[in-house]
This record gives sequence, structure tokens and C-alpha cells, in this order.
Amino acid sequence: MTRYAMVLDLTTCTGCRACQAACALENQTPYWAEIMRTHVEDVTRGEFPQTERAFLPRLCNQCENPACLDACPTGATYQTADGIVMVNQEKCIDCKYCMTACPYDARYEYNDADRAQAQVVFAQAPAKTFVDKCTFCAQRLKLGQEPACVATCLAGARIFGDLDDPKSQVAQLVATGKAQPLAPEAGTKPKVFYIGLGALAANGLPVEIASASLTSAWQNEKLVGSVALGATIVGAAGVFAYARRNAQKHFAQVAIEMQAPPVEKSAEEKEK
Ligand code: SF4
Ligand code: SF4
Ligand code: SF4
Repeated sequence: MTRYAMVLDLTTCTGCRACQAACALENQTPYWAEIMRTHVEDVTRGEFPQTERAFLPRLCNQCENPACLDACPTGATYQTADGIVMVNQEKCIDCKYCMTACPYDARYEYNDADRAQAQVVFAQAPAKTFVDKCTFCAQRLKLGQEPACVATCLAGARIFGDLDDPKSQVAQLVATGKAQPLAPEAGTKPKVFYIGLGALAANGLPVEIASASLTSAWQNEKLVGSVALGATIVGAAGVFAYARRNAQKHFAQVAIEMQAPPVEKSAEEKEK
């Protein structure tokens, strides 16, 4: 039987976020509210200029024992035979129990404002508010295609395949212990695994996920992005100002040397 899974290689992820853009377009998520089914967290430590930075892609872990499914009172959340956790929009009553239950904060609400905006942006919108999540792009899998984020990742940081196929790369990475799940103590048996998670934690970079909501994580990411952009602009301005100052000093020195009268030779030198 097929059991779809994904491995994320933190040693090759460049933080380019092409996966986020691909996800937003493929699944028509409310990206105007910074919501994609997958997002890439900026994990930083230290203070400028002594900082370390890493990127942690996040998405629904397609858990084998999904807490969201247990919490759903209507049966809107269900699991397919190949292990993908899905949401039936029609059955969803937007109670948000699943959002509370998910230890990975991997769900989001498609609210009325988002529906209105979706109509403008995509010329179509969900019929009512509901809670949504990543499905490993189930619509693409049916066509024999990889999830959009995997197909878009030029760094090869996203590896997708069947855990029950011992020849698949994901099965081998998981079997050898090279790829590890995030926060397995949550007990939901995630099927998203990471290469390099241990190194991230060993370096003191935070990888806790339980407390932060996905929304606040996105907001933090936005904040970090703004700070990083600001720092880049300030840094670039500083480098430019420094270079300009040095250039001015250099040219001033050249000008002084060019304008300076010839040095009068001493009587001793003249005799020579
Ligand atoms: Fe990382 Fe790949 Fe996403 Fe870029 S597209 S942020 S390399 S996972
Ligand atoms: Fe459900 Fe959360 Fe697991 Fe996804 S990560 S299957 S939303 S419990
Ligand atoms: Fe189920 Fe929808 Fe309620 Fe989530 S919001 S628990 S999917 S009915």
C-alpha cells in the first residue's frame, strides 16, 4: 500500500520560498493574508553581526494518527487510503476544533474576507468559510505529478515518495535515520521528515513548534523579513557611505598631491 511522505533537506534549502509561491498558486490559498499551505520559517540566533540563520520549511505532516481527525465532530476531516489527511469543505462547519488540536499548527481558516478576495484574484472562491490544510497536492498526485512545492524546489530540498516502497528515496532516508520527524513527542506519527534537524538544534537554533501558532509564525517571518530587508538597506547604505568616505579621502589626497608645489631640494641634494 502507498504511504506518501516528504523529506525536507535543511542542508540544501536556500530559503528562496519558491515553494510558497507555487503552493499559493496551485491551491489558491489566501496568500494576501500571508497564508500558504507550506511556509518557510526563518530561524535566527544571536545579534547582528554575530548571527546564524537557517530555514525551516513547514507544512501539514500528514500524520498517521492525526489529532485533527480525532477532534473533528462532523467527519469533515478524513484520511485517504494512501495516508493523506483531507478536508471535505461541504461537511466542515468551521468550528476550528482541528486547528486547536493540531500540534503543528498546520491548518488555516478560509474566512469571509478571504473568500471575497479570492473572487477578485482567482475569479472563484469557496462556497463558505471552512478550515483548510495541505493535502500534498492530492489533485496533482492523481495526475501522476509531484506536489507543486516539490516540483518547484530547484535546490532539491524537498523529496517526495512512498514510505512503503523500500526503493524510494524517502523510505531509504527514513529507514537509515538520516531524516527525522519534527517533534515526534506529539504522538501523531508525522510523515514529514527533516535532514539536518539535529544540527539545527545542536547549534542552539530553536526548532520548537508546539506553542507558536502558524499565523504568528507567518507574522514573525514577515517581521524577520522586514528586519532583514531593513538591515540589508542599512548595511548597503553603510558600505556605500564607507566606500564614498574612503574614496573622498583618497581623491582629496590625490588632489592635494597634484596641487602641492614641488618640494624644494635641499642645498645638499642640489650639489649631488
Ligand atoms: Fe527551500 Fe526549496 Fe522552498 Fe526554496 S523552494 S525555500 S530551497 S524548500
Ligand atoms: Fe492533522 Fe496537524 Fe497532523 Fe496535519 S500536522 S495531519 S493538520 S494533526
Ligand atoms: Fe472538522 Fe471543519 Fe471543525 Fe475542522 S473546522 S474540526 S475540519 S468541522
